[in-house]
Amino acid sequence: MAARFDTWKPGKHALFFDRINHPSGEDRPTIIVSHPTAAASCTLSEKDAINFDCLKGVGLDYLKALKATLEEYGYICAGQEADWLPQAWLDELGNGTSFKVKCFDWLPLWPSMSCGRSPENPPQPVSSYWLPHAHEKPGAGGTVILIAGEILQGEGDHAGPLQPIGSDFGIRLVMHIGKFQNETHILISAMTAHLPFGEYTTLAQHLLSTGEKFNGGPQQIRSDLERVLNTQNCKVARQLRLREKTLVFNKFRFLTGVPATSGDEGLWFEASGQGIGLGSAENPKDGGSHTLAYGFSVRAPVAGDSGAKIRTGNAHSLVTGANKAMIFRQDPASWRGAALHGDLDDYDWQARRPTRTDVQLNAFRSKVDLRGIVGGKLERKKDFAVFTAPNYVKTDRPFKNQVKEISASDGLSAGVRSNTHTAISAYRNCSVFYDLMREFGIDPELYFARTEQRAEIHYRSGIRPGKGKDGQTVNARVALTPVAAKGTAKLSIMEMHLALANLSHRTRRSDQAEPLGIATSMRWMWHEFGHFLIAGRFNELEFRFCHSIGDALAAVYADPESRLADPRDECAKRFRGLTFPWVFLTRRHDRCVLDGWSWGGTLHRSLIDAPEYQRKAHKGYLSEQILSSTLFRLYLILGGQTQDVEDAGPDYNTRETASKVVLYLIIRGLQTFGHIPAAAEELEAALVDADRTVSGSLVLELIEEDQAYHWQGGQAHKVIRWSFEAQGMHQLERQENRNMPGMPPPVDIYVKDHRPHSEWTGGRNVEHGSGAYVPVCLAWAGGRCWMAGTSNHETLTFHLGNRGSVPARDISVRIWIGSVGGDTAKRHWDRDGENLISWISPYKPQIICIDKGLQPDAEMQYDVPVPRGDPDGVEFTHRLVLIEISCQDDRANSDPEAMLPCAITGTPPTLPRALADLVANDNNLGLWMLS
Ligand SMILES: [Zn+2]
Repeated sequence: MAARFDTWKPGKHALFFDRINHPSGEDRPTIIVSHPTAAASCTLSEKDAINFDCLKGVGLDYLKALKATLEEYGYICAGQEADWLPQAWLDELGNGTSFKVKCFDWLPLWPSMSCGRSPENPPQPVSSYWLPHAHEKPGAGGTVILIAGEILQGEGDHAGPLQPIGSDFGIRLVMHIGKFQNETHILISAMTAHLPFGEYTTLAQHLLSTGEKFNGGPQQIRSDLERVLNTQNCKVARQLRLREKTLVFNKFRFLTGVPATSGDEGLWFEASGQGIGLGSAENPKDGGSHTLAYGFSVRAPVAGDSGAKIRTGNAHSLVTGANKAMIFRQDPASWRGAALHGDLDDYDWQARRPTRTDVQLNAFRSKVDLRGIVGGKLERKKDFAVFTAPNYVKTDRPFKNQVKEISASDGLSAGVRSNTHTAISAYRNCSVFYDLMREFGIDPELYFARTEQRAEIHYRSGIRPGKGKDGQTVNARVALTPVAAKGTAKLSIMEMHLALANLSHRTRRSDQAEPLGIATSMRWMWHEFGHFLIAGRFNELEFRFCHSIGDALAAVYADPESRLADPRDECAKRFRGLTFPWVFLTRRHDRCVLDGWSWGGTLHRSLIDAPEYQRKAHKGYLSEQILSSTLFRLYLILGGQTQDVEDAGPDYNTRETASKVVLYLIIRGLQTFGHIPAAAEELEAALVDADRTVSGSLVLELIEEDQAYHWQGGQAHKVIRWSFEAQGMHQLERQENRNMPGMPPPVDIYVKDHRPHSEWTGGRNVEHGSGAYVPVCLAWAGGRCWMAGTSNHETLTFHLGNRGSVPARDISVRIWIGSVGGDTAKRHWDRDGENLISWISPYKPQIICIDKGLQPDAEMQYDVPVPRGDPDGVEFTHRLVLIEISCQDDRANSDPEAMLPCAITGTPPTLPRALADLVANDNNLGLWMLS
């Protein structure tokens, strides 16, 4: 018996709906539906087995319920197919068309729920994904990204594996499976879809309209297509000067019409692929380890092999852009050094430049553990290997194509400007990255589904294409090298090529001058990890809507320990917004929306307007800074602005927590995509989805603390949305440049706190008004702007408001009274576990009925009498009053109706830090502290 889909009645404004049509008509229209606090649920009984058939059934039920709901609320028009998903797709997902095999279907889960990556179960180019939740017992819960896409099954083999064709057209559902209030549920919180556009169609739609023409149906088309590709192979290779044996076709799209210049009738297709060049420029002197890979696309008729057109005559390069050691934990420009202990010497940026002497730079190195190193080999067997560089490093010459080895003493003796230091730094920075993924419960083996898991790191290398191929350049690049596909599908290999941090200054050792390698810059390495993360899920190096996510990773990873983030002198004010302060690049992550750094504004416009096939020509570094500014803001809201209560320096623990949460959301968010996203709005939605993939808590190891911190899932989605809104997303008008913050959700009720109404960013003040999430210090002492109030009066008057544009009706109120002891101005008071809050709930939940609802921009007062007496006979120093307001269109994260992991079903969190994280990231919650 199929699992039962519960009645689903989301608030109209709890449902976010967007349809993005590309202005040029030359990119995939995208539908985004997101409802994190109003999930559709399916309650499972003991007898229900959660298997793929069950998920498919629930998915189809959801699509039907979603369509009815969107029609009822007027988001789409009934009977208008153009508004919604193609009927041919829904037919195929349902009972199927009249063809013998389906050509559009739900794609199988990878990995299966019961086993991981194995040779018998290789990842497919596109599939549905099973993302087990971090730190849960196996089988206890996880998220399913259920993908429906185009497939072509093998001829005569009805039971054979489905073959996704990689057209990037299809549907994605986000399903969370786990226990909530003692029952097992499947909760669906989002749907996105990519539709065909312009001259493209999908086979299901084509066959529905011209079903007569192909009697063999999808099977015939598949065998025709295979035959055509075989004959095209040598033609493509010859024309594009690629090695024939290396050609891989991996993306197919069907075309609606026949090219005008062609005599061939019938259905045409476009195939894209990659191959390795054979020209002289691609004849490497270093033993073939980094040959250039090129992409191409071909158009041809499915039946008949004459008249095929190789579309991109110009191939576009896919190249984009001992146990202890002394290394730069942060680059010298940003290392906090003695500032950790309050020693704030005058910060001198000049004295920290890459041009300084070895002795000067050496002062910024720290002794670290070379985690996981075995026998001096700079590799982690499954994750990565640092290779020798025989063309650039003389002592490597006898060791071509080998993993670099160091001796037991190298780690501590290698000088700043030495190749050994560069190689060790590459190793160390990579191990930090992979260790962090594992700390998050994200297994790299499962993350890197579209590439080989093991990456190749070339610690001293040339940069191609361009003039840097002799390695005398300040740069780093990631390349994706296709592996020849003979028979079975092979995955590309990720290669990172690292050149120099500085050209003119070298240390002369024996007879070879040794430079400062760029691998010593952790921030640059993190930029390149951004390309790894994109490649691992999409087999591409860049996003379509910006260069990558690497600048955001670099900024957010580096900030907690950065001297440049110290608020005590002018340092943070002057330098904190520089993304690459040491090996200097002009990129920043504090760009102001008013200056055009807006998702709906001037500096993103060229990427909004460019057709998909032209996007690669735009490097997207401007949009990357819009993204890094957005995600750095998210980090600041989550705690990155918090100061230590004793010395007013950075609160390292709270900042590191915020940093790790953002990194988790990014990496997990990328893992929730099926098809490569077309618009930045999809990335926002994916981060919201990722927030919910923490079903228990994310256990974070903090550098300064022995104890781990438990971050609750479901707390971040509102501040994610606001971070993008503040950077210009969600404009009323998409076609015009809007260099200002976007629109709030239609209903956004709030309990007023003491945050400023404007945000200082990029040297300007941006107005946001009441109820917004302007980043503030989240400490329990000092200004306490995140609280609703701190004064002692007879009654506590909370001010309630609505940031949205639609009245909020029937607001329910819950109140808890708490007491807590100790001195809030003592370091770690909020997290050391010695001062837990005891809670009582003295008032019944109440509904505030206002005649016409709480109007936009109106504020109302809500009085709570000051609690008296000593309810539990325990000594305490502070009283706490927590208020939660919630309504159908804007649920509080703590409201059990929202079914989020952070719901308050009994009493609120008892650890003060955990309470602050819950309250500060949801404007539906207000906290009053009395002394
Ligand atoms: Zn890059």
